[in-house]
Amino acid sequence: MIADNLREVKSNIAEVARACGRDPAEIRLIAVSKTVDSQRITNANDCGQNLFGENRVQDALEKIDLLKEREIRWHLIGHLQKNKVKYIIGKFDLVHSIDSFSLAESIHKKSLEQGVVTAILMQVNISGEETKSGLPPDQLQDTLVRVAQLLGVQVKGLMTIPPMQADPEASRKYFAQLRELRDEMAKQAIENIQLDELSMGMSNDYRIAIQEGATLVRVGTAIFGDRT
Ligand SMILES: *Cc1c(COP(=O)(O)O)cnc(C)c1O
Repeated sequence: MIADNLREVKSNIAEVARACGRDPAEIRLIAVSKTVDSQRITNANDCGQNLFGENRVQDALEKIDLLKEREIRWHLIGHLQKNKVKYIIGKFDLVHSIDSFSLAESIHKKSLEQGVVTAILMQVNISGEETKSGLPPDQLQDTLVRVAQLLGVQVKGLMTIPPMQADPEASRKYFAQLRELRDEMAKQAIENIQLDELSMGMSNDYRIAIQEGATLVRVGTAIFGDRT
């Protein structure tokens, strides 16, 4: 089942990308494996999927350790509390959910202590929903300017989570706004800030996200089935 699902998601990604004139290779699929046990992650890995996303630090660290013999890259996609920062350094290729200068600063300090640079995305609260984490769009530029000074982190792009809605088309305007915000920030050419990555789109709206420029799609349910 996982094999079929993965095949289908990948072929959808390629089809949508080509239809809008993009190279499918520009889009990376993150298999979101939160609540999925290591056996099923192994199954997906056996089908060639080697990029996985987790949202809880503790669960992620257990799986990373259990599966350390495998060629698997991990992204942290969920909200990160400052008191957990010390556990994540060196474990994730990319942390998607940086929503304040102080969180970036904390990762910077711990990364330097361990002699590494941690790749991060700035999470933006495009919709302005109070329940969503993420920087308000009007604080992004100032925050990027300050984060640019932190040598222990490297900004790679932006991430957003739109409001939950049944109709995937409802996500389009938020994805478009994230892309426009990225383009605007890229024009500022802030030194040491890279903005190539746009992490947006989940099981129900990844096709729309690709049409709007996503480079990283975070897909859980469509690969592993409903979470119990
Ligand atoms: C759970 C989760 C996803 C995947 O959601 P699905 O609807 O299962 O594809 C993507 N991004 C984040 C941040 C998540 O927490």
